[in-house]
Amino acid sequence: MNLQGKVAVVTGSNSGIGLGVATELAKAGASVAINSFTDREEDHALAAKLAAEHGVKAVYIAADMSKGEECRTLVAKTAGAFGRCDILVNNAGIQHVEGIETFPSATWDRIIAINLSSAFHTTAAALPLMRAQGWGRIVNIASAHGLTASAFKSAYVSAKHGVVGFTKVTALETAGQGITANAICPGYVLTPLVEAQIPDQMKAHNMGREEVIKKVMLARQPSGDFATVEEIGGTTVFLCSDYAAQITGTSISVDGGWTAL
Ligand code: NAD
Repeated sequence: MNLQGKVAVVTGSNSGIGLGVATELAKAGASVAINSFTDREEDHALAAKLAAEHGVKAVYIAADMSKGEECRTLVAKTAGAFGRCDILVNNAGIQHVEGIETFPSATWDRIIAINLSSAFHTTAAALPLMRAQGWGRIVNIASAHGLTASAFKSAYVSAKHGVVGFTKVTALETAGQGITANAICPGYVLTPLVEAQIPDQMKAHNMGREEVIKKVMLARQPSGDFATVEEIGGTTVFLCSDYAAQITGTSISVDGGWTAL
């Protein structure tokens, strides 16, 4: 699955799944733009490391995915840096866990903006470029929560269901034009986001690390194992490859059987 000559932009990719996806795309030969809102020296160093390790071009572009204009600028700057934009991976996302009655309105708005609306803005900016090239791949990192629900995750579940729906619309509007749009729905993946939840869960359930992982966190993941960022990255590479040219408008679960339950 060779992506040499292709240019990819991955939102929210200085950590976790986004970095895993950017790394696998670079391993397959794609040039990559990585992103976050932080704009620290280490973010730029991460891009330099990707380039050096995988022999591709890589840049870091700061942009806040909670702001529509910055989402669009991220795509424009990617095309400015590399002369094209072939692959768009919408990955940036945040979480907040609280019941509906007390869920802060501002947090609801922020989750919808970063987890859902950012994909609308980046896609709107990327489609004209992809149409002009006659080739494009859009991969939206949704979640098992794009297909099922959990209590206390109203904004996240709503946003991720929205991403799955938006993916279908994108596929219909681009069908037959060399462009595909698909969602990946991971179950639990051991990223900094999830790692940070483990101590709280240990305290809440009075369990050790391994016990809380198996009995609480992975209770709905029949495989009993986390998915890995490499597996999400590899699935992305597959969806960007020629093998997946006729796969569009669908979602692929990488969830150890969660949504089969
Ligand atoms: P993470 O916290 O490690 O990474 C989140 C990324 O988003 C970071 O790179 C962060 O810089 C970026 N980000 C956050 N707010 C941003 C903003 N305003 N502008 C730009 N970038 C921003 O989390 P992760 O677990 O790697 O999650 C990545 C994606 O995968 C999210 O969309 C998440 O919902 C989804 N997901 C994660 C899991 C899991 O178990 N980890 C499961 C299913 C889906």
